Amino acid sequence: MAVDEARRAELAAGLEQVRQRIAAATREAGRVDEPTLVVVTKFFPVSDLVALAELGVTDVGESREQELHEKVDALREARPDLLGTPTRHFIGQLQSKKAKRVGSLVDVVQSLDRPKLVPLLDAAGSERDTPLDVLLQVDLEEESRGRGGVSPADLPSLAEAAEQATGLRLRGLMAVAPRDEEPERAFARLADIRENFLTNHPEARVLSAGMSGDLEAAVKIGATHLRVGSAILGSRPAAR
Ligand SMILES: *Cc1c(COP(=O)(O)O)cnc(C)c1O
Repeated sequence: MAVDEARRAELAAGLEQVRQRIAAATREAGRVDEPTLVVVTKFFPVSDLVALAELGVTDVGESREQELHEKVDALREARPDLLGTPTRHFIGQLQSKKAKRVGSLVDVVQSLDRPKLVPLLDAAGSERDTPLDVLLQVDLEEESRGRGGVSPADLPSLAEAAEQATGLRLRGLMAVAPRDEEPERAFARLADIRENFLTNHPEARVLSAGMSGDLEAAVKIGATHLRVGSAILGSRPAAR
């Protein structure tokens, strides 16, 4: 898990660039509060995660259960000091049979997208000292392709179920802009969905939107969390 110095410098440079983009977008949007940067480390080794933590990254995201599990095990073994911080987010599609375990390995599940997951994550949350933070992932596709996310029509009932679960704390929404649409257009829909959602769930103000290619558009609509991978870590290796 030793960190290669050249890699550390590369990550530091990527991080600096993205931080500047975020600062510029925040100014441009006339916002005072900068969104939280969640660095997405999926497909990259745990040594990168360690380097990023040492570079001051406060939040990291993973999207695959197996990989998350291996990384947490590796940290437990070699760097237990990094188990509590950075804050770990799960941002990938959740399989029901893995949901409880994921809930036990992270601080925030951003991809709660169907009622069936609520009792599974609730069970994980109930075993912790504090409830598990969850975001509801909204599907922004105009015609769903099953890539994850609850339809805007089904969002209110899912939100209700999450709020009833005592092991969970409903913190807000997450979304991914569809690939074949201008992000500004998709995020405009997201802003409307969120406004509506906040009338019933005024405390759940987190909005996780924006990735390497569209973070500026997300900052503009009030994203509180950005999930950035490749702009910091480089292009991901092909699926293992
Ligand atoms: C991989 C991933 C990201 C990061 O994407 P980049 O384009 O590499 O910044 C963000 N959100 C989700 C849900 C992802 O799966």
